[in-house]
Amino acid sequence: DSKGKLMIKEDQEVGQVTGTVYLNYIKAYGVVSFFALILFWSAEQAVRVLTNWYLSQWTQAEMDYMATGESFDRYAYVGGYLGFAFGFVALTSARSWMNLLSALHASKVIHWKTLAGLVRAPVLFFDVTPVGRILNRFSKDTDDVDFLLSMSMSEFGNCIMQLLSTLIFLAVIQPILLAGIVPIMGIYYIMQKYYRRSFIEMQRLDAISRSPIYSHFSESLAGVETIRAYRLETAFALSSDHKVDANHRAYFTLKMAGEWLAMRLDILGASIVFLTAILAITRRDLVTVSLAALTLSEALDVTLFLKSAVTSGAMFETRFNSVERLTAYWDLPQEKPAEIEDRKPDDDWPHDGVIEYEDVWMRYRPELDPVLKGVSFTINSGDKVGIVGRTGSGKSSLIVTLFRLVEPYEGRILLDGVNILELGLNDVRGRIAAIPQDPVLFSGSVRTNLDPYDKHSDVEIWEALSHVNLKEVVAGLDGGISATVAENGDNFSVGQRQLLCVARALLRQPRVLVADEATASVDSETDSLIQKTIRREFKQCTVVTIAHRINTILDSTKVLVMDSGVVAEYDTVPTLMGRADSSFRKMVLESDATTPSNSRANSRANSRANSSQNLAAMAASGGGGGGGSRLPKGLNTFVKRLQDEGEVDKK
Ligand code: ATP
Ligand code: MG
Repeated sequence: DSKGKLMIKEDQEVGQVTGTVYLNYIKAYGVVSFFALILFWSAEQAVRVLTNWYLSQWTQAEMDYMATGESFDRYAYVGGYLGFAFGFVALTSARSWMNLLSALHASKVIHWKTLAGLVRAPVLFFDVTPVGRILNRFSKDTDDVDFLLSMSMSEFGNCIMQLLSTLIFLAVIQPILLAGIVPIMGIYYIMQKYYRRSFIEMQRLDAISRSPIYSHFSESLAGVETIRAYRLETAFALSSDHKVDANHRAYFTLKMAGEWLAMRLDILGASIVFLTAILAITRRDLVTVSLAALTLSEALDVTLFLKSAVTSGAMFETRFNSVERLTAYWDLPQEKPAEIEDRKPDDDWPHDGVIEYEDVWMRYRPELDPVLKGVSFTINSGDKVGIVGRTGSGKSSLIVTLFRLVEPYEGRILLDGVNILELGLNDVRGRIAAIPQDPVLFSGSVRTNLDPYDKHSDVEIWEALSHVNLKEVVAGLDGGISATVAENGDNFSVGQRQLLCVARALLRQPRVLVADEATASVDSETDSLIQKTIRREFKQCTVVTIAHRINTILDSTKVLVMDSGVVAEYDTVPTLMGRADSSFRKMVLESDATTPSNSRANSRANSRANSSQNLAAMAASGGGGGGGSRLPKGLNTFVKRLQDEGEVDKK
């Protein structure tokens, strides 16, 4: 039952490759090159057969010479044979060379098209696709296509071509043989098809029963002390044996199936040899001895070709599965266009940073319930708005719609009066800055992380760094702003990473900034530094903060409370604090933010005049109109501390 599952099952792991995949590959390979390849291959095989035929003619001449003393020019034969041999070498080299170049071209085309399809896939695709699967396609599958595919293509093609050329040769020398060869090849076709179907499935069984052995083994090694301590050696050994047995069952079946096929192919090959031999004897008046010998030796080879055609064919098809998995990404659903020429916003848009949501409805996937249910609000120019709400209430989803990671299915989102849903995606995303919840850094240098598109001067970058108090840190690094940033920014602390993200946003000088507050990873000292920096450096911007700690947004212009996908409250802090039924007020009272033990640094950072005045006002009104006359205990201590610190006058 696939209902309710998030991760979709991987498609097309095994099985027969469809015709369109071959067609796609041939297109990527180059249609002309493909036909040239066939031509080269045929010529190569023709020369191979002719070389053998020439050798038999030479042998015949030698035999005639021994029998009748009839002289012949031996050196002419040597020369001719050399000529054939060189021709064969030249053709083979040319064919391999061309095949390698075209296959390389094909894998380049396939890789780029796959990548293009992937990076333009909507974010939802990444929700339902494990990253390992994507990595697998770009490592294992790509490697298969780059390297192994052209090898098995050569191998398989060689087998088929040799088989065909040999059969044609036999049919030319002994046309009657066709009467035998045609039905034999029919049987061969049916048999190899039957075998290959089961072979692919058995191979899969072998593969999936093998990995438990390895994981069990490494787990046992890692936990060997525990196993010994509980005296479970025997149990673990037995469990390992069972896993090995299970794998051997599959492996043995696989091997036996190979034997099954080999025996039948031997019979088919032997039948061809038998027919050829019979014909050589019965028609000895029509065919010379040397030609008869040649047909026999060629017929013996057929058995070999039959066998390797099946195995290399199965291998080829397995490799082609990689092409299929890659080309499947060509048809992924795509995001809306990155740029729309006739709907380009002005260069200085958004100038004011007014955000308007008008009855926005959004769901993550068509089969799911909406998570934003008619959200409407307006954020004025330069406002600092904090978004709060229970977990899962739709705070991040609001931001998701602003960046159009998921498109709302109803409603409008206006930025300075322009409906962003009608613009190209790059234009929208490029004009808003975000400080993500998990600071994202890429491996590279500090410079490439701050300014990936190389638009700013070193001076500007240093300036941004000094604004976030990282100037000394970066200056102390080897290479300054060219210093290496490890993967995920692992050589920086989490707080420093977040500050780098702030610096990145700073460089872009956005009019609208969205900050998703870090939840737990940062200590309060750093957190307050980050908050302070944002407040100081983005004074003119419209700043939307998703808050996980109430105290960081107490000084906001307005607070927006989300509740199950709708805007529950949207007003200034004092107004909300003044309402007895306000859920924001409840959150403030519940939160630890106002108790002094939490963090002095934190509260100090946020106790700017604005919030202090608000709280003083609240204190003065005695906790709000209908909210009872007593000031809540937590709030009381908070205000008291502000007074102690001299931020609010005693009165
Ligand atoms: P938190 O404070 O925990 O971050 P939030 O308010 O940001 O919560 P959202 O992430 O906006 O909550 O989620 C709102 C609803 O949307 C939740 O019910 C969640 O299950 C659902 N949701 C979020 N992301 C997805 C997704 N990628 N696919 C499907 N449903 C999602
Ligand atoms: Mg969230």
